[in-house]
Amino acid sequence: EHKDIATPARTKLLLDKHGFSFKKSLGQNFLIDTNVINNIITASGITDESGVIEIGPGMGSLTEQLAKRAKKVLAFEIDQRLIPILGDSLSSYNNVTVINEDILKADVKSAIETYLSDCKEIMVVANLPYYITTPILMGLLEEHLPISSYVVMMQKEVGERLSASPSTKSYGSLSIAVQYYTSVEKVMIVPKGVFMPPPNVDSLVVKLTALEKPAVTVNNEDLFFKLTRGAFVQRRKTILNNYMSLIQNSKEHKGEIIAWLEASEIEPIRRGESLTLKEFAELSNNFEDFPH
Ligand code: SAM
Repeated sequence: EHKDIATPARTKLLLDKHGFSFKKSLGQNFLIDTNVINNIITASGITDESGVIEIGPGMGSLTEQLAKRAKKVLAFEIDQRLIPILGDSLSSYNNVTVINEDILKADVKSAIETYLSDCKEIMVVANLPYYITTPILMGLLEEHLPISSYVVMMQKEVGERLSASPSTKSYGSLSIAVQYYTSVEKVMIVPKGVFMPPPNVDSLVVKLTALEKPAVTVNNEDLFFKLTRGAFVQRRKTILNNYMSLIQNSKEHKGEIIAWLEASEIEPIRRGESLTLKEFAELSNNFEDFPH
């Protein structure tokens, strides 16, 4: 039995053996701490019936622990230089498939059908490339894939945004979008020092559990998301002023916009950051009755 990959010594050995150099532009900060990995695994609740999707396996530090516990692991890695290294580091596991693709372009739905169809539930477990955390998560959530949970590490600030409540500094359209699809829990803060090379920021592991149906009922999702984004364009402005900028010919319709807000029981002088998901849903569902 070889030693875990997620240690400074084994990581260095693999780096030297394959002459690998990190690419900052790909968010390559590899985990070198087995405790952090164990905590991620525990939070995920993987069983031997689980199919796990990993985004960015790197040299396989997390992947190998996933492979030991899950039924199958499907990993997407963009950097082709890592493919032979993963072949080496994961050679003793026959339940791992590595796909050399950009996760933002991959057809995850058909990959799930091809590789994970015999798994009882599907989860995402990953130390994400931080520069694309939001597009990765929103892309997966909006595709309505059969994914039951996500245990993902990201930049601490972004993790704070996912879990933020109304009227806090971190609350915004990303909080609303993620909380529309999932319930969000913070798992642990991870210091810079457990990565090679260390990133500039601390990290947060977050668990997202898919809701059976969205957190609020909206008639038109596109409109709901447009209104939530529009409410935060200028955080310091009132909801009325933000929507005056969002809605076409708003000057002519100011009275109707105020009436729409009031019919939804939103005082026009409130700031967007104070509105709950439910209030945005109410606004969205009442919108059709008013000009836009
Ligand atoms: N899982 C490894 C670990 O924890 O040690 C590596 C994590 S590292 C933070 C992020 C990984 O994502 C890198 O291996 C990087 O090459 C990969 N990556 C970056 N952009 C990607 C993309 N668009 N699609 C798939 N993988 C990507």
